[in-house]
Amino acid sequence: MLRGAGAALLVGALDGCGVGSLARRAPVVPRLQLAPLRAAADRITQITVCTRPFRAQGPRLDVERIGTKIIVHNYGHGGSGWSLSWGSSSIAVQKAMAVGENDIAVIGCGALGLTSALLLQRAGARVTIYAKELPPNTRSSLASGLWTPDSRICFEDSATPEFKEMWAAMARKSFQTYQTLLGLPGNPVEFIDNYFVSDDASAPRRAVANDARPKFAELQRELIADLMPRSEDFSPGTHPFGERRLRRNTMMMFNITAYARLLVSDFLANGGRIEIAEFHTPADFARLREKVLINATGYGARALFGDESLIPVRGQLARMIPQPDVNYGLFYQRVSFVPRRDGMVFQVVGDSDYYGFDDASTAPDRAEAELAVNTIAALYAGTGAGT
Ligand SMILES: Cc1cc2nc3c(=O)[nH]c(=O)nc-3n(C[C@H](O)[C@H](O)[C@H](O)COP(=O)(O)OP(=O)(O)OC[C@H]3O[C@@H](n4cnc5c(N)ncnc54)[C@H](O)[C@@H]3O)c2cc1C
Repeated sequence: MLRGAGAALLVGALDGCGVGSLARRAPVVPRLQLAPLRAAADRITQITVCTRPFRAQGPRLDVERIGTKIIVHNYGHGGSGWSLSWGSSSIAVQKAMAVGENDIAVIGCGALGLTSALLLQRAGARVTIYAKELPPNTRSSLASGLWTPDSRICFEDSATPEFKEMWAAMARKSFQTYQTLLGLPGNPVEFIDNYFVSDDASAPRRAVANDARPKFAELQRELIADLMPRSEDFSPGTHPFGERRLRRNTMMMFNITAYARLLVSDFLANGGRIEIAEFHTPADFARLREKVLINATGYGARALFGDESLIPVRGQLARMIPQPDVNYGLFYQRVSFVPRRDGMVFQVVGDSDYYGFDDASTAPDRAEAELAVNTIAALYAGTGAGT
């Protein structure tokens, strides 16, 4: 535990351990021990940008007939695509299987396409995935990798009782499916501790948008609180970050490289086929031999189906050299850090969920990437640890 610079953070924990003095001193409060993070801009390996497929009314899951084809839509999951994937795809698969065909096509190979394809196989179908890009080149591969099932999922006024019921069922189904993916080689899915760090104890985690824009729905606390472990607070003196306050939560994390590979290899091992294909209009589906299709094209559905209700929400990740001993996440001054094993993730998340809203630009912003890394690095200044 005293490996390298980590020793510096533990000094406080060991203070007062002289044998002869034990009886005279107050009991030592166990101090939070965190392996120091080597956060530095010169350790950034990659900057990626992608757009979340947001719809004000939530994901599209209806069934549409186009020519001779029956299309089951499964897109528009905002910042919750991985988190809700198993639950959302279960609904799409039920609708597809209800048609009574055995050969089914899935359009798209991101989070929603892969989970749809695997669930179709489990329901007994023969499945081909048709997609323009495969992991790691899909938008899904550029996500942060946390279980965030209500992140930009819809606007508050669309969260009707029926929507809430469907969302809660999707979230629970996904959560339970993810429990079956823990403890596997390569850790595709694991739990981590995440620390919300504040300079001012009374400051809210995110500012409330102080304008007339619609509010994003927040559903977790109301509908699935039983799936959320209780948080714990650490006051100054009980942790390594000086006079700041910490709140610890436990969160589920996806190491997306390993996880997407697992999904693809399971699909192929079950006899699934993948074809690289690009569709420009729904009329292009006529050339497919399957009559029933699940449309999991994510933000691509905007161009393919002319769905203007899909709004891009830009998000940029700065990826950094992995550090296996760091297994906790941080949230500090509007920056999120996720300790992914396939590359540490730093992200400026802004003042509110409107950060990046209606912004389809995908050009990397180096200054933003460095701001994200330097903000987190500042936490370690003065601890004697870090880079
Ligand atoms: C910065 C950022 C962080 C995020 N963090 C998280 C997170 O921590 N947790 C979480 O749950 N979600 C997160 N998300 C959201 C998540 O990434 C998306 O909701 C999810 O990727 C959507 O998956 P999808 O399968 O619908 O779409 P995509 O991943 O975009 O996949 C679409 C597939 O369809 C194919 N396709 C598209 N159009 C066509 C076409 N015309 N012809 C042929 N093929 C086509 C593509 O090639 C691809 O294979 C984040 C998003 C961003 C941008």
